[in-house]
Amino acid sequence: MNKQAWEKLHEELAGKGVTLVAVSKKKPASDIKELYDLGQRHFGENYVQELVEKQAVLPQDIRWHYIGHLQSNKVKEIASFVYLIHAVDSFKLLVEINKQALKNNRTIDVLLQLHIADEETKFGMDEKEILSLLDYYEAQKESLKNVRICGLMGMSTFTDDQEKVRAEFIRMRNFFNLLAGTSFLGQPQFAICSMGMSADYQLAIEEGSTLVRIGRMLFGSRG
Ligand SMILES: *Cc1c(COP(=O)(O)O)cnc(C)c1O
Repeated sequence: MNKQAWEKLHEELAGKGVTLVAVSKKKPASDIKELYDLGQRHFGENYVQELVEKQAVLPQDIRWHYIGHLQSNKVKEIASFVYLIHAVDSFKLLVEINKQALKNNRTIDVLLQLHIADEETKFGMDEKEILSLLDYYEAQKESLKNVRICGLMGMSTFTDDQEKVRAEFIRMRNFFNLLAGTSFLGQPQFAICSMGMSADYQLAIEEGSTLVRIGRMLFGSRG
């Protein structure tokens, strides 16, 4: 765990009002605890089993972000405690999250994943798919009261081409602004634009990110 990197990043982001999520996937609970002791509270994980195991042994006031691809049949395992689910990519998943949130007597906040990268391997929906998901949501809103759509999440293409990455972030922020302006989402909770990782967080912030997900810069490479 890199204390200097965290202190610098924490200060820089706090000054800009950007939330720092420390991505701790594949790192031991002891690394998370060290960062927690410095004051970090938001942590991100990609795998359900790993998250469940860590949540059980770490301080209960950690805000756990689920940032990986989530299968519907796994939602129940994290529904009692997850703080924000970043990568909702289907209406079916949204309905399941609502169902499990209701069972736990709570509301779960989610982001919709916009596919902005070139790679086929990255999950997410395009703009049209998100608009159609939102049509379904709008039509069934009364039965989806235990899930709150709080914004968008996106991952840029893995490339050295900075202008390409910038263009992807601009596309994402523009779509975010469009949705934030629509009547049914134009509510205070639709306020999170989750974009930027270790390699591209500065660009992401320049283009309007409100939350960055940083792993390697804080915890070192994952091997
Ligand atoms: C792993 C991961 C990150 C963090 O990436 P780093 O390059 O380690 O900063 C951010 N977002 C998602 C969705 C990830 O899977």
